[in-house]
This record gives sequence, structure tokens and C-alpha cells, in this order.
Amino acid sequence: MSLTPTRKRSTQLLATPLETIRGVGPRVLEKLAKLGLHTVEDALYCLPFRYEDRRQLKKIAQLLPGTDQVFAGEITYAAETVTPRSRKKIFEAMVSDGSGQVALKWFRYRGDWMKKQFAVGRKAVFVGEIKRFGPLREVHHPDVEFLPEGADAETILHADPLSFGRILPVYPLTEGLPQKSLRKVMKEVVDRYAPLAVSAIPDDIVRRAQLLPLAEAFRQAHWPEADVSLAALEEGRDAARRTLVFDEFFFLELGLALKRRGIVLEEGIPFQVEHRYTRPLAKMLPFRLTAAQRRVLGEIKADLMAPHPMNRLVQGDVGCGKTIVALMAALIAIENDTQVAVVAPTEILAEQHYLQFHRWLEALGLRCALLTGSQSGKEKREILDAVRTGAIHLVVGTHALLQEGVEFRQLGLGIIDEQHRFGVRQRGVLKRKGISPHILVMTATPIPRTLSLTLYGDLALSVIDELPPGRTPVATKVLTESSRERAYNFIKKELGQGRQAYIVYPLVKESEKSDLLAASEGAAHLQAEVFSDFKIGLLHGQMKPDEKEAVMDDYKKRRIDILVSTTVIEVGIDVPNATVMLVEHAERFGLAQLHQLRGRVGRGADQSHCLLIRSQRCSEDGLKRLQVMTETSDGFRIAEADLEIRGPGEFLGTRQSGLPDFRVANLLRDGRVLEEARQEAFRLAAEADFMTHPRYEEVRQVLMERWGSRLELASIG
Ligand code: ADP
Ligand code: MG
Repeated sequence: MSLTPTRKRSTQLLATPLETIRGVGPRVLEKLAKLGLHTVEDALYCLPFRYEDRRQLKKIAQLLPGTDQVFAGEITYAAETVTPRSRKKIFEAMVSDGSGQVALKWFRYRGDWMKKQFAVGRKAVFVGEIKRFGPLREVHHPDVEFLPEGADAETILHADPLSFGRILPVYPLTEGLPQKSLRKVMKEVVDRYAPLAVSAIPDDIVRRAQLLPLAEAFRQAHWPEADVSLAALEEGRDAARRTLVFDEFFFLELGLALKRRGIVLEEGIPFQVEHRYTRPLAKMLPFRLTAAQRRVLGEIKADLMAPHPMNRLVQGDVGCGKTIVALMAALIAIENDTQVAVVAPTEILAEQHYLQFHRWLEALGLRCALLTGSQSGKEKREILDAVRTGAIHLVVGTHALLQEGVEFRQLGLGIIDEQHRFGVRQRGVLKRKGISPHILVMTATPIPRTLSLTLYGDLALSVIDELPPGRTPVATKVLTESSRERAYNFIKKELGQGRQAYIVYPLVKESEKSDLLAASEGAAHLQAEVFSDFKIGLLHGQMKPDEKEAVMDDYKKRRIDILVSTTVIEVGIDVPNATVMLVEHAERFGLAQLHQLRGRVGRGADQSHCLLIRSQRCSEDGLKRLQVMTETSDGFRIAEADLEIRGPGEFLGTRQSGLPDFRVANLLRDGRVLEEARQEAFRLAAEADFMTHPRYEEVRQVLMERWGSRLELASIG
């Protein structure tokens, strides 16, 4: 007997358009569509964003400020008045229940109607948030349900279950669709369709993870049982929501697990490691690799020697030394007669990598090339030819490397630096430039674990959790604009001791032009008025590559004392003699970005300083971010804080980040459930007959529905 037909039928029924629901006419339908609700399933997944406890009436004397409360009482006074200060009309009423009294206020209302309704002596049930003003309590714009003559409040409470006598869902609203109407639609949907929802998660997992049946989960998430803990509900820890979140994460992780398994099973080129180049390089380096670098290199080597392609993410805080690890991996690929491609997100970073790689590779008798978008056609053609014939061992570049027309004799290893700046797709493009090449991606943005698990869940993870010795944490101060002079004097002092400085100008909105303006005007002003004894250089994204290189080179060789720039220096630039950074309008930067920027200093053994200048008008969030910067230099803690302040989508800063849109799950809140779901999903995917046994037919089907074409399962045997 197969379950598939029921499942199919359930899927079909959940796709029922909402117009078939009682009470949903064309007008309401349009409003629902505005909320993104078209089908019954959409509606089921539109969970309340909070709940109102209307289980019982509260005595007026016991109303607690700051929360929504339900109470009944008699109107003892009602009148339109004018506020003393702003001279605005308001409508005011007093309500008493014998235990105490509370004021009701309306700032927008229809006067005639209010005067008629709010007659002294009339009784009603009220719902609203209690506010406290000194000794007085007030409710602004409460919901009011007048009681018929002689009726008592308790009866009303039980007569209208859509409004009273239980914990009520509060849904996101759109104009013209009141909460009460939406509740009515949702009640109908949940009553009729929730019972049809069936989870495809195998029973043993449902039991182990203590999940509710899916139908029950939907019902309780919308209309919680009377005895549920309100705190759990508010925090999204109740069994119903946990079940729905688990369900969502489970299929995501199952997809990632299969992708990972697919890659693991794919045939690759196993490398031999004889240290032909790595050993001589290690001898040439002016430092010893840290223990963390060696450990990660070991993990990479093991991957490279396996008969399946590597797919590994190296994560490590700014300055931990990822580049050298990547270079070592590259040398192993070259030793095995294959080529290496290194992709970086900006031209400046690509150039910097090129300069560094080029130096070491040359010393080892190997050839390295740079490919960027701004090279001339002729130059590009020569490089492309050399890459195609295999004359070039390692090519560094920007997106230009990913374009069609870039062909390798044999690509053995693809490296993506600062992966978070790219989408997930680029990894696939690079991969297709070779025959199952090994892939190594690196990111300096420390990503909270919950995010890595969803974004990079199909990658093996290595963490470089140690900085090279002798680094001192950067002393960070937040200053207001009025202290700018002091900051300049401080910089002069550092420069006087032979140090160098960065001055970073902010993103002025999205336009690169105005950034450029801010930076170039800033540079001119500083050179003429403030730092006339020192040499200032300007670096921005719109300069030609050789101009940029010349400026960077001047800065490295100390022919420039201060580098004024836009955020182009954010990634990867490395000048150990620079010990001060001043950031203008620091509040406009994201935390991750500030952390990256700050990572440009503190690269040598001397004490470094970061001065964050904020404007007087700085948002609450802005202040919070700057505060975090002064408190810690731990990239992971900064990332967690950033995620909390901004939320996951913003945090990654890009729509193509590959982060799925969750319907129920919340990465900030549901980390624990994610870990559980991941464990179960990976365990299931590891079962030998998962892809073939009829018992898993349903799970596979749901997986396909949810992932669609994003899951390239063809390679799974
Ligand atoms: P990131 O991880 O941010 O990409 P880099 O690879 O640019 O960091 O390294 C930062 C700096 O640290 C570079 O100057 C590099 O030469 C240096 N470095 C890397 N590894 C070590 C080490 N083991 N000991 C000392 N310095 C190191
Ligand atoms: Mg780097």
C-alpha cells in the first residue's frame, strides 16, 4: 500500500484558492493577495506574529501597564476635550468596574458616532494596551464590544469565541482588512484545511524529535489551547511552532545533506602530496604557520588526496592568515599537474593576491597571471591563451574569471576568496570550468553557526580560530564630530612616529559617485588644511587598476602616510605599518563591514587604534553597533550581534546570498531546532537506500517539491 495518493491529494487540496473560503469575496480576496495569501496553504503558513490573552477578564485594579488586557466596565464619563498644549481635539472616557477606573482616549475618531455610543452607564468589554502616565492608567484606541442591555460580560466572553474567552491570534494586517475579519477567514481555513496537512517526515524521527502531527501543529499555532504557556507562545517555543519550524528546516537540511552526499560520491582526481613546492615555500616564509593554519591545511590535504572532489569552506577572522593556506593548497594542485583559479570579489583584492602569489610562485619557478574586467582585449587574449594551453599554473581574477571563454587545460582547484561577497551560484560556475575540480571557499565574515548551516550546509567546514602571534587587539573609540580635531592630532602623533593611517569615508547612499566625491573632497581638504606636512593618497573603486596598484604600492612602501579611501579597502588589504584608522560617519556602516575595515589595522605587533566618528544624529541601532565595536574584537561575537540587530537577510547584504526565505523558521530564534533537524536529516540522507526504497518515496517527493530545480540530484546513485 502506498501513501502517495493521499499525499498528492493533500497537496492538491492545500493549493485550493482562498476564494472558495466562506466569507471571502472579491474585495477580501484582493486584500489577502496583498498579504501574499493566495491559497489555503499560504494562509496556513501565515502564522500569528503575536497572541492576545483574552482567556479571562481582568479587574481594572489589576491591569498591568505594557500589555494587552481585556476588561469590562461601565462608562462613568465621556466627552470631547481639547488638549492643553497642542490644542488638539481628543475623545476621552472613564470606565469603572468597582475595583478601580481607567481612562480611554481616542485621537482619531468620528465625533458624532462616539458621542452617541459612549453614553454614561453603558457597559462594554474593552481590549487594549495599558499605558501608565504617572499615577494614571490609560488605554488608547481600545477595541470595544458593547454589551446588550442586561447582559453580563462573562456570557459575552463565551458567546464570541472569535473575539473573547481564549488566546487569540494576531495576524499581520493590510489596510482595509481588520483583525476580526482576517481572524474569521483564518479560522475557517484552519478548521477545514489544517486536518489535511500531513508531514512526510518519517515516524521514527517525529517520535524522536517529539513533534506534533502537522495538522495539530497548524491548529495550535493559530488557535492555541487554553492551557498553553503564554511566554512559550510569545517566544515561539511552543510545541506547535517548534513542529512547523522543524519541518521547514528538516527538508532544507535534507537537501543540503543530499547535495553534500552527491559531491562526496562524485568522482574526482585524487592528488598525491609530495611537498614539491609547499616545503620550499614554508622555508621561504618569514613566519611559521599557526597551529590552526596547519590543522586546516591538514584537513584540506586529506580532501585533496581523497578520490572525491573537495568542497570546503575555510572560515577565519580577519587577519588569521587564510591566504597562505590557500596558496599551500594551490601548490599541491600544481604539483599534481593541474591549474588553479583564485576568484576575488574586487579588483584591488585580486591584484593584491596576484602580487603576493606572483612573488612566491616565481621563486618556485611557476607562472601566475591576473585577469580582471578592465584589462585590454589584447592583454586578456594573451592571458586566456596561456591559461588554455596550461602555460599558466595559477590565475587570479575577479568575476572576469567566471565568464565564458575562460578555459583551462586542466583546472584542479578553484578557490573563492571572501565567499560572502558572492552568491552561491558562482561556486557552480567555477566548478564547471573543470572536470570535478576541488573547490575551496574562504570567508572572513564570521558567520553565526545557524547561518553557515543553512547557507553553506553542503560544504565541509574548517575554522582558523587563532591569529598569528604578536597581534595586539585594536583599541577602538567612538567619537562625535566635535572631537574630530582631537582625532586628527592623534593621527599626527602616530604619523610622527613613522606609522601610517587610513581615513575611510562612508557610503553616501548607494551611489558610488557620491562616495567618491566624499572621499576625494575629503582627501583634498585634509591635504591642504590638516595634514599639510604629510603625504595623502586617494584610493577608490573607480580608479584604473594600474592607478590603484600604484597607490597601494606607494602606501606599502611608505611613500604615502595617509590613505584616504572609500570602502574598497574593506577586504584583504594588508599593510602592517598602518596603525590608525579613522572612519567617518561610522554609524552608516554595518557591523560586519566595520569589523572588516578595522581588520586593516592591528596587523603588526604595535598597538593600533580605530577611531569611529559618528554624527550627532545617530539612530538607536547605529549606537548599538558602535558600542559592540568598542566591546569586542571577536568576529564571531560581532557577527552574532550584527545578526541580532539587522536580521539575516540584511546581515548578508545581498539578495542572491542564497539564503532561503523561511515561512516559519527564524534563524535568530530557532538555532537549536535547526541543529536537531540537521542531525536527523543528515542521518536519513546517509541511509544507503534513501534514494531508492519505497518507504522514503514520500519524503523524496516533498523534498523535490520544496527544492525544485535547485537540487541537482542527478549525480546521486
Ligand atoms: P586573512 O585571513 O584576513 O585573509 P591574510 O591571509 O591576508 O589574512 O593574512 C594577514 C597577514 O598575516 C598577512 O600579512 C600574512 O602574511 C600574515 N600571516 C599569515 N600567517 C601568518 C603566521 N602564521 N604568522 C605571522 N604572520 C602571518
Ligand atoms: Mg583575505
